[in-house]
Amino acid sequence: MLIFGPPGGGKGTQAKLLAEDFGVPHYSTGDMLRTAAAERTPLGTKAKELMDAGQLVPDQVMIGIVRDALKTPAAARGFILDGYPRTVPQAEALAQIFKDLGITTFTVINMDVDDEELVRRLGNRVMCPAEGTIFSSDLDDVRAGSPCPSCGKSLIQRDDDRPATVRERLKVYHAKTAPVLTFYEKLGVVVTVDASGSIDVVHREIKALVGSPLQS
Ligand code: AMP
Repeated sequence: MLIFGPPGGGKGTQAKLLAEDFGVPHYSTGDMLRTAAAERTPLGTKAKELMDAGQLVPDQVMIGIVRDALKTPAAARGFILDGYPRTVPQAEALAQIFKDLGITTFTVINMDVDDEELVRRLGNRVMCPAEGTIFSSDLDDVRAGSPCPSCGKSLIQRDDDRPATVRERLKVYHAKTAPVLTFYEKLGVVVTVDASGSIDVVHREIKALVGSPLQS
């Protein structure tokens, strides 16, 4: 299953819930890049520069990361892919990866939210620097500097959630990522969900729409 949508659309939150529901791994390319950045690997350092500027990491880098993740035994029974593909070339490369791995069935969950709501959500969210868990001051009575409800570390605003970067991320989303939806619509694999509701409501809507999509 691919979770597709704009920044702040709730991809990561829903992907985690669905991965738990179905007992499959959740691969978030954003999380992978943030881990690499925290470890200060050469890839991570370069990726952080791009992420903080609201830009995409180059396709060839992302394709390699995703190919490596999907060919592991952990992914053999299915997986939730979150944050990839973000460009048409990435989608084309994924088609080849699926072909190589014999994957024939998949669904794209399109999380539909308008820009105004996205800007509001991104401005309100904070992250645990230790676990990467996202919280929202809308829901969790937390803000930057509050202790993480789970581990106590001081919560931070993601560098790429600053207003100027958010504007750039949305621009990049509309220019480069939105065309990916057309790519998948042509294949008839898209399920669109109104993602402006609460976490629970959106989760239930997705489950009702997709049932249990895993191959036995
Ligand atoms: P996310 O956590 O999914 O919002 O991703 C955070 C940032 O990581 C994005 O704004 C991009 O800079 C980078 N990123 C994540 N996934 C990809 C991808 N598939 N292609 C290019 N850049 C990506």
